[in-house]
Amino acid sequence: SADTAYEALTVETLPERLKDVTALTAQVGEDPALWQVEEVGDGNLNLVFIVTGPGGKVIVKQALPYVRLVGDSWPLPLYRAFYEYHALIRQAARDPGAVPAIYHFDESQALIIMEFLAPHVILRRKLIAGEHVAGLAEFLGRYCARTAFRGSELSMSSPDKKADVALFAGNVEIPAITEALVFTDPYFDAEMNSHTKGLEPVIATLRADVALKVKAQQALQRFVSNTETMVHGDLHSGSIMSTGRDSRVIDPEFVQYGPLGFDIGMLCANFLMAYFSQPAHRGADLDEYQDWILGIIADTCRIFEAEFRHLWATERTGILFPAALFEDQGHDSTPACDAVLTGLWRDAWAVCGIEMHRRCLSLAHNADFEDIADMSVRASLEARNLLMGAELIHTADTVADAQAVCALARAYN
Ligand code: ADP
Ligand code: MG
Ligand code: MG
Ligand code: MG
Repeated sequence: SADTAYEALTVETLPERLKDVTALTAQVGEDPALWQVEEVGDGNLNLVFIVTGPGGKVIVKQALPYVRLVGDSWPLPLYRAFYEYHALIRQAARDPGAVPAIYHFDESQALIIMEFLAPHVILRRKLIAGEHVAGLAEFLGRYCARTAFRGSELSMSSPDKKADVALFAGNVEIPAITEALVFTDPYFDAEMNSHTKGLEPVIATLRADVALKVKAQQALQRFVSNTETMVHGDLHSGSIMSTGRDSRVIDPEFVQYGPLGFDIGMLCANFLMAYFSQPAHRGADLDEYQDWILGIIADTCRIFEAEFRHLWATERTGILFPAALFEDQGHDSTPACDAVLTGLWRDAWAVCGIEMHRRCLSLAHNADFEDIADMSVRASLEARNLLMGAELIHTADTVADAQAVCALARAYN
């Protein structure tokens, strides 16, 4: 409860410690002796428990005061649970149904009790297994557009937006991980970097490319200084849970106010890495499945744009691009929307290329590549991904659209 000092839960202590939380007992049942508790955290940072009782199941997620992936030598503030909670309730308001239902938040224990998603599994596992998810592009395109638009001054009032930016500005150390691991570490010999043997010549090429490093740092500059909207901050395929036809977004602890194009750029990178890794995971269905992944990228971006333009036309209630300057004077505001989207995609494609680099070069690699046991196969597939990432960073300002990005992926495949 709110007046007790933080203590990490264990499967043994959880029932006794949470037995009086009515938001929990309402879901699973009142008698803690009948609960089963399992720790299932597979992420890099936090404890995640499934609590099963006669009434049902819930997820209990608790922050640890250090980075789980590294250990207690790398402390990390518990307050990230506070920001995760505040991000989740905003995402739920901005795109209803997109995130798990939130039942309870305890700030001093850094814990969130939420809906147990079932039979959802982490999307990355489905992509490695070659499974299809119906409605995925529609869900992700709308989620990214709605959260981007509705978290910005295109929608919000100036006082509300400033209050929210101030609130999330307290989330310091977690976005700082992104600042270093994503934008900077791939381009020098950072301490926690690792890479697959054989990539050394490609890495040398990237680090010798001064223009590339300038573009990556300009993307970082926009990431840290541009508070256009509330971003999820970690929207990769490990932060999406899906069934064959339903998807949700989880784990927004890297939330901050940042560029409109950040989340969709990072998301597309993770689909591109899934694409490049497929030759190691598929047999006869390789071409069909790679086509499906590229179709998801193209459709997600197309639906994103359509939803963004729809919100522009119907919900432009903030201080930006007011109707007084356009429609009220008999002027179409489409050129203004085009200009906003041009900047958005420029940021998105730069972030996309950088994310493709960091997942192979700095800390926290992804299973799409990491599950490939044959190191020479892995290195050659990662090399394609790294080289395409570099081209995207260089050409982010001029990329025509997601179709052109998919064509580029085919050329590097
Ligand atoms: P971390 O911040 O440590 O990465 P996540 O929020 O990503 O933690 O959760 C870790 C894992 O726990 C997920 O990969 C997923 O397998 C499981 N998980 C998290 N939230 C839920 C949920 N609401 N329903 C079902 N499983 C979940
Ligand atoms: Mg996670
Ligand atoms: Mg690796
Ligand atoms: Mg997380």
